[in-house]
Amino acid sequence: MIWCPESTVTQVERLPVRCDRCDYRVELSHRSDALDAALVSAGYVHQLRVEWAHLQRLQTLVSAVPDWRERFVSSGFVRRAAEFQEALQADPALHEFLRSSFRLVPRFQFVESALREHESELQISLLHCPSCMDGFIHIEPTFFTRL
Ligand SMILES: [Zn+2]
Repeated sequence: MIWCPESTVTQVERLPVRCDRCDYRVELSHRSDALDAALVSAGYVHQLRVEWAHLQRLQTLVSAVPDWRERFVSSGFVRRAAEFQEALQADPALHEFLRSSFRLVPRFQFVESALREHESELQISLLHCPSCMDGFIHIEPTFFTRL
């Protein structure tokens, strides 16, 4: 069976959402299908932004080494490389992120392109935070991991 986040979200009566700007959190009920779809997209964009930030820190780390594109092609290599141990200990989230296996340059290119595409499709007008009116709400990231 193919898992579909949109149909999962539609079936949930109270959907946990939050705004990263002001940390507003609420469980939304009585939502329209359009809002559900927008919240799923916003949740996806949020995850991509988190991953992009990890990749940005990773690129900064390895690009201090000459010829890094040839030398550090994989996440596992960076994770085990002695010259990065100190930096990775100071950044546990990045260290954890490197547990998944991927090639650095193609992954970065994929995430950047996916982020551009999904950000341009966001239904921003539906996602304004009702608390700070400045940020945007998205599905609580832990929502899908708890299903
Ligand atoms: Zn807010």
